[in-house]
Amino acid sequence: LHSPRNRPRTRIEDDSGIEVDYSLGEMLGKGAFGVVWEATSVNSKEKFAIKMVHKDKPGSVSIQLLEREIQVLNHVDHPHIIKLVEVFETPKKVFMVLELCRGGELSDILKEKKSFKENEVKVIMKQLAEAVVYMHDKDMVHRDLKLENILLSTSCINDAPFNIKVTDFGLSHMKGLPGCDDLMSSRCGTLYYMAPEVLNNKHEYSKLCDVWSMGVIMYALLCGRMPFNAETAPLLEEQIMCGALKFKEPEWISISDGAKELVRGMLNVSTINRMTARQVLEDSWITGGAVRKRIDP
Ligand code: ADP
Ligand code: MG
Repeated sequence: LHSPRNRPRTRIEDDSGIEVDYSLGEMLGKGAFGVVWEATSVNSKEKFAIKMVHKDKPGSVSIQLLEREIQVLNHVDHPHIIKLVEVFETPKKVFMVLELCRGGELSDILKEKKSFKENEVKVIMKQLAEAVVYMHDKDMVHRDLKLENILLSTSCINDAPFNIKVTDFGLSHMKGLPGCDDLMSSRCGTLYYMAPEVLNNKHEYSKLCDVWSMGVIMYALLCGRMPFNAETAPLLEEQIMCGALKFKEPEWISISDGAKELVRGMLNVSTINRMTARQVLEDSWITGGAVRKRIDP
């Protein structure tokens, strides 16, 4: 699965151990459980991102998520998935040394730009689909794909080409990993991006929940709004369950039928009719072929 050459090392150190090898710089972000800093390798002067999580109590949720994330990242090697370089453990903390993404979160760029051009979305969605196809082929489901968990490897000022990295594998699921033998039936992820079958929480759901989230991401990138949005969580859940998708003007008027059809294909409430990640990757809008005629449901 992962050649030993690339396999991240795990080292046990005392609390100041990490600072022997890395000098910590500015804080890059804060997640639900971790704080992330920029760091420079003392030896190579190369820059990385270091995610730190407190161990508080053994068996705590944050540690479980971090362990899951480390296990999963040890099994992946893809240009559009964040790379785990090494792991340090101290009695109180776990540090993950990750490749540095200087461009920040896609959610922040979207806030700044309001929306992306169709051909920019094409590049981002193609890279995302490549990463998700890779994961799904490995029986791995991310379960928390959202704009905040997609980072840009370089800043997009000066029109540098987009290079995305999918990150935050704390909620991901991989068949065969310890702790992953459960049916995939736990409700997790972020409500705006949550597939109807995940919300429903009744049956075992499949990899296709990631494709739903990809549809939410693509919709938001194109128009700067969420496809499903409401004042309260119950109302939002209702919207998602019936999958009422609206391409409101004026934002959507100039967007091609091929893009709308792809969004519809991903945001299909029925998992039987929803596109797979591979179908997304091979879609004519993504591959740049002729724009297909829109088929209304
Ligand atoms: P959590 O699991 O706690 O949500 P994340 O892995 O999502 O933590 O990291 C929190 C935030 O830190 C991210 O949203 C991002 O802003 C920043 N961050 C995380 N990893 C990196 C990285 N490799 N390079 C740059 N910034 C990062
Ligand atoms: Mg996060």
